[in-house]
Amino acid sequence: MSIRVENISKVFERFPALNGVSLEVKEGDLLALLGPSGSGKTTLLRIIAGLEFPGRDGGKVFLDGREVTWESAYARRAGFVFQHYALFNHMTVGENIAFGLRVRPRNTRPPEAQIRRKVSELLTMVQLPGLEDRFPTQLSGGQRQRIALARALAVEPKILLLDEPFGALDAKVRKELRKWLREFHDRTGLTTIFVTHDQDEAFELADHVVILHEGKIQQSGTPKEITSSPANTFVSDFLGFNDS
Ligand code: ADP
Ligand code: MG
Repeated sequence: MSIRVENISKVFERFPALNGVSLEVKEGDLLALLGPSGSGKTTLLRIIAGLEFPGRDGGKVFLDGREVTWESAYARRAGFVFQHYALFNHMTVGENIAFGLRVRPRNTRPPEAQIRRKVSELLTMVQLPGLEDRFPTQLSGGQRQRIALARALAVEPKILLLDEPFGALDAKVRKELRKWLREFHDRTGLTTIFVTHDQDEAFELADHVVILHEGKIQQSGTPKEITSSPANTFVSDFLGFNDS
């Protein structure tokens, strides 16, 4: 499903977090939203997810060309994973993954046997087969984030929104997961926005990168386009291209 946001603005207590942001993610693309802390990345992702709403006259969100600006997160069928995505520690891995299916009203809830089959398939998909009965505390940080991803995928989302999902992990694991996520994306073709403040992560992972600063887009393009010609001094400074 393609994603388009048009002229999004959001003000928190008179502080403008987003100011006229427009972007487009084509069906099947992986877009990285890159910017320093406080640049508005999470706010934009939450507006796309339907967890936050733009101000009045604050712009529009479209999925596959259909306006969804005021629709709930549930109706949009977005899957998301956050940096500190708390798995439920008192539930097994299998129960965590199945959670979004088991809380459905009875008439839309799949039968229990189907839920179990689905959990097992998802664990295979994130390359952690057979871990249903473990508890989150028995897993490494990298494994936990893959379980969080499996949990997001259980409800068959149409888009995937990842907010610094590897931010809390050490550099080596982060690098491995980056590669893994890219392969995973190529296999599934799920339209994805990946938020990060780490330029290496953004440039290695994404087809297109959008650079945000103070709630405004500074530049968007392929990693090659951006690194070969930074649009302004913010971008060149942020990328560490100094004159000296
Ligand atoms: P990022 O994810 O890039 O670090 P955020 O989208 O979290 O940036 O925040 C952008 C700006 O909006 C920050 O200055 C932040 O303090 C402010 N902000 C975010 N959420 C809220 C909120 N719920 N209430 C007030 N200010 C907020
Ligand atoms: Mg953030």
